[in-house]
Amino acid sequence: MKIYNTLKRTKEEFVPLKEGEVSMYVCGPTVYNLFHIGNARTFIVFDTIRRYLEYRGYKVKFVQNFTDIDDKMIKRANEETTTVKELGDRYISEYYKDADGLNIKRATVNPRATQFIDEIIAFVQDLIEKGYAYEVDGDVYFSTKKFNEYGKLSGQNLEDLQAGARIDVDDRKKDPMDFAVWKKQKPGEPAWESPWGLGRPGWHIECSCMADKLLGKTIDIHAGGTDLIFPHHENEIAQSECRNNTEFARYWMHAAFINVNNQKMSKSLNNFFTVREILERYDSDVVRFFMLSGHYRTQMNFSIELLDSARSSVERLYNTIGNLERLLEEVKLDELQEKEKGFVETLISYRDKYIEKMDDDFNTADAISVIFDLIRDININISAESSKTIIEKSLAIIRELGSPLGILQKSTKVTLEEEVEKLIEERQKARKEKNWALADKIRDDLKARGIVLEDTPQGVRWFIKQ
Ligand code: AMP
Ligand code: ZN
Repeated sequence: MKIYNTLKRTKEEFVPLKEGEVSMYVCGPTVYNLFHIGNARTFIVFDTIRRYLEYRGYKVKFVQNFTDIDDKMIKRANEETTTVKELGDRYISEYYKDADGLNIKRATVNPRATQFIDEIIAFVQDLIEKGYAYEVDGDVYFSTKKFNEYGKLSGQNLEDLQAGARIDVDDRKKDPMDFAVWKKQKPGEPAWESPWGLGRPGWHIECSCMADKLLGKTIDIHAGGTDLIFPHHENEIAQSECRNNTEFARYWMHAAFINVNNQKMSKSLNNFFTVREILERYDSDVVRFFMLSGHYRTQMNFSIELLDSARSSVERLYNTIGNLERLLEEVKLDELQEKEKGFVETLISYRDKYIEKMDDDFNTADAISVIFDLIRDININISAESSKTIIEKSLAIIRELGSPLGILQKSTKVTLEEEVEKLIEERQKARKEKNWALADKIRDDLKARGIVLEDTPQGVRWFIKQ
């Protein structure tokens, strides 16, 4: 299996530290609002990579943190006249709602920065003792020039960075590129006791510390969006490698950004979509299919039109699943027929092709093409004359190849029922609002699909016209 390593700027053979096991740390959200579709790409990509590693037989320890103390948290808590703790609790629970909605597997651990304050303080103390960090009146800074590999992840050298940073020099720092590992309390801010007085951790230190505590001094994969390469991950490397005197992460992986209608997502442009609003209209399979239809290292554009087109593709895949599910109930032959043996081999060959694509730096775009080829072949070869065994095998391989991508696991029967119930609800609402045109349209659209609604004194019933 090959992984593109940002640190080495090349694809490398993946060899985990311990045979059969993978330790993986992904930088998670700052929990001060609902997460948006940009964040969702990063979370879905690394959830897929984790699922694929598991599919290939690795035991994966997957850690994704919650940043629950920083400037944004403090500002938002003040605006909402609540505490940083309450804000964090609330948006962590909202995070799980949306992440579950996107079929993102729960992490092995989701640590919160504020649960590791003692460990962070000890980490900072070690850095000071080893001469890599210094205190200035309650703040503690990391001294970048003490780490002569500073800049290795983002491919920059310290002199150039220093020249660029000179404009906004904080005169408390010895050097413009130094960064805070501990911040002195400002009036009204939440704070913890430390050897340097009341304060709170800087952002970068939490990931260095929690990765160490939960996964060890050297981890296999460290990941996040490309925006984190510099300075966040660069600073994590500096802190961890100076304190532990060993390599921090062996493979650095970064997911490219999502733009909206070819523009950067931003509140002022009003082109900002939360996962919450998207999931009201689209199924998790559609969102995941869309996110995985491009390679994770390629920038992607997001628009409702693109999501609609993803929905048609997913419907095509589920049409085949639906046909197979129906055929299973209808077919007369049980046992595999002699003439079907060749098709069993064909099904296995799709698995091999899929693995080949995914083993090449998780090429989900090409893996999805393989699934479409498989579906096409199944549509041609399976019919009411097929045996139950070959239909089951066909269905099983679709589900198997969909599983690492977190899609194609639903039963079409349930989906239809849910869809119709939802449309009936919409129709009732339209009638209440005296929107007869919409109410009639919903009924007629369903009728065109062979679904008949019946208004009874007990409510609306529906059945499929044979
Ligand atoms: P944040 O809450 O801003 O710290 O972001 C959480 C994660 O989402 C990080 O790994 C970011 O790199 C990633 N992220 C933020 N915005 C985008 C975007 N537009 N596209 C892809 N990933 C993003
Ligand atoms: Zn981080």
